[in-house]
Amino acid sequence: MHKIGNKTAGEETAVGCPAKSYQEREVEVVRTRITLACTECKQRNYNTTKEKKNHPDRMETSKYCRFCGKHTLHKETK
Ligand SMILES: [Zn+2]
Repeated sequence: MHKIGNKTAGEETAVGCPAKSYQEREVEVVRTRITLACTECKQRNYNTTKEKKNHPDRMETSKYCRFCGKHTLHKETK
């Protein structure tokens, strides 16, 4: 580890952080890949991801289905 801009070499004390000089915080985003299928024609039209903690249940969303030619309800499928 190099100290930049501080010439007091040899005395490197982490103030307030004993033992832990650095701490990496990895943000764990739990994203699950899901497929959205049209509920009318059963075509799988969309691949997307969702956060499970936000949507613990199956997602249902209105999306355009090119097979039906209109907006239909799309449900999460495996
Ligand atoms: Zn459809």
